[in-house]
Amino acid sequence: MKKLEVEMADRIKNLPPYLFAAIDKMKQEAIEAGKDIINLGVGDPDLPTPDPIIKTLQKAAANPKNHQYPSYVGLLSFRQAVASWYKKRFNADLDPKTEVLSLIGSKEGVAHLPMALINPGDTAMMTDPGYPVYHAGTLFAGGKSHLVPLTLETGFLPDLDAIPAEVADKAKLFFLNYPGNPTAAVANRAFFEKLVAFAHRHNVVICHDAAYSEIYYDGKPPVGFMEIDGAKEVGIELHSLSKTYNMTGWRIGFAVGNSNVIAALGKVKTNIDSGIFQAVQEAGITALEMDDQPLAAIRNIYQERRDVLISGLHKLGFKVDPPKAAFYVWIPTPTGISSSEMTAKLLKDTAIVTTPGNGFGAGGEGYFRMTLCVSKERLQEAIDRMEAAGIRG
Ligand SMILES: *Cc1c(COP(=O)(O)O)cnc(C)c1O
Repeated sequence: MKKLEVEMADRIKNLPPYLFAAIDKMKQEAIEAGKDIINLGVGDPDLPTPDPIIKTLQKAAANPKNHQYPSYVGLLSFRQAVASWYKKRFNADLDPKTEVLSLIGSKEGVAHLPMALINPGDTAMMTDPGYPVYHAGTLFAGGKSHLVPLTLETGFLPDLDAIPAEVADKAKLFFLNYPGNPTAAVANRAFFEKLVAFAHRHNVVICHDAAYSEIYYDGKPPVGFMEIDGAKEVGIELHSLSKTYNMTGWRIGFAVGNSNVIAALGKVKTNIDSGIFQAVQEAGITALEMDDQPLAAIRNIYQERRDVLISGLHKLGFKVDPPKAAFYVWIPTPTGISSSEMTAKLLKDTAIVTTPGNGFGAGGEGYFRMTLCVSKERLQEAIDRMEAAGIRG
């Protein structure tokens, strides 16, 4: 029988091409051509999940009580572990029953939050460049995106005073992300205080994505949004075990903060998913209750890699500051070369996969992103290949 011609919904047609899918295709072609690829493209930790977490999963997976549907909002014991972790790390007080919600990764939370807050035609604000899912989630809910530019001059923090008041008054939601992907920028306390005041003034819900809060360097943990007085009143923060504990494949994260927003997001999720495998939640509790030693070791490894990559890039003439957090290096392209041209050239001449800055929004044009998710030997190899190919900043 003839296969039906299927017309896709507008929300799919209107999506920008998913960045990493395009990169994956280019990478696949290079692999098929027999090249030895160095993948500095996708931000996915190469290091293993710490052992105690795996041990807990193994035990919990064997327990039949974990084989049934989990609770929608997450095990209370998991939400309690989240609240305790927030108290310990950010001195924030959260009610595990009403101010914590488990997520199937923070990406899931980002994608579903607009469905809870955005009516067709409503506006959500987000930074440009930024994590692409903020826009996709808004589009899926029928909303419009207002892009707030990030520039080097302001340390890749949005200039809140430059956002037109009528835009901010109309907007329902504002997505931000510090330490940031792709810029690796870190927000300071003064910025977050200003953000809380901004949210009150314009009655806009803040969604702060803190996926990278635990990947930091030089022994300096970044300030958290939930540390700020009033933050919990104006919005939520998303976090996940993915980047912190090398658990991207496990799919476990959480939202904390304003109980109305948490309840609304929970309502959407109740109708879409049925929670996280309980054995994974038990392993998540082990992660959150672990002492800092395994994390300190992971940070040290990234920091060594950062230092190798940055000193190599400096030698090649690229002007880039060492990131203080996250595992990204956000690099200006050489004069006259676009983001996509740079990425294509690196792949063709050196078999290095990187991400073009414009994949994170038009504001990322003129940059490309490298990740620290390969060994320092491979990073050195990448620098050597660039030098041999005559690629300079
Ligand atoms: C990786 C990433 C996420 C998604 O993380 P998961 O918890 O694995 O879904 C969310 N936000 C940003 C900015 C990220 O880079």
